[in-house]
Amino acid sequence: MENNLIRNSNKIVIKIGSSTITSDDGVISKEFMDSLAIQVRELIDQGKQVVIVSSGARIAGVSTLGRWSRKEDVNYKQALCAIGQVELMDSYRVIFGKHGMHVAQILLTREDFNNDNRTLNIRNTLFTLLDEQVIPIVNENDTVCVEEIKIGDNDMLAGQTTVLWNADLLLILSDIDGIYDKSPAEYDDAKLIEVVEDVYELEKNISIGKSSSFGTGGIHTKLKAAKLVTEYGINMMVANGKKKNIIRKLANGEEKATIFKC
Ligand code: ADP
Repeated sequence: MENNLIRNSNKIVIKIGSSTITSDDGVISKEFMDSLAIQVRELIDQGKQVVIVSSGARIAGVSTLGRWSRKEDVNYKQALCAIGQVELMDSYRVIFGKHGMHVAQILLTREDFNNDNRTLNIRNTLFTLLDEQVIPIVNENDTVCVEEIKIGDNDMLAGQTTVLWNADLLLILSDIDGIYDKSPAEYDDAKLIEVVEDVYELEKNISIGKSSSFGTGGIHTKLKAAKLVTEYGINMMVANGKKKNIIRKLANGEEKATIFKC
């Protein structure tokens, strides 16, 4: 059943982490985006619907502007996100367009999910886009929300989007095969946990290390997102977006991941 999670899901939210979308030299990886577009196209052609939650605005801002990369001032970070968001969406537009898909930008803050009127508006836009086969690309609205920059959890934004849309699956693509019993960057003998029945139990039994250089949220926010979506009866997966054709391989049962069962 595990391997069929993607095949059995019709409504899939795919969250792309900063470390996944960035190539080693610190720019948005066009190669990754192209491969993502091909795989999303395959899902769409199978009759599925996909929403993307994408990080990477700040990194795109730094590489576009060529300065401010070391500025720690939060206003500069927000400014970089505002600059980079345009670049990020432009890359999505061009690359997804090449594969016959239209994309739309949805910028949200956490507060939007606590307001009934806004939630309804978001839902209406989301459903209209999806009905018309447009791929919504969600990101945090960093201009009005500095929390994303401080603790940077697009994982939670993805979780909230998943619940709002009532998706069947949240697929989080990171730079690691899934959740390990200890930090794989620090321990060679770290073991991948493939199936999680109880997130709270897992949390007690693993140790969590630092996140990667481009990453922000780390494992804590992934577990937080897992608690949220599984509580709503939705499955979640954490898989390695750095691996070529990961979505297709997961659908074919050819790659490992961590599955959080609802
Ligand atoms: P993203 O940008 O995809 O949200 P992060 O870089 O924030 O991802 O978090 C993933 C990183 O967390 C991994 O690269 C890994 O080195 C680190 N990490 C620390 N502890 C663990 C653990 N127990 N299991 C898996 N990864 C861990």
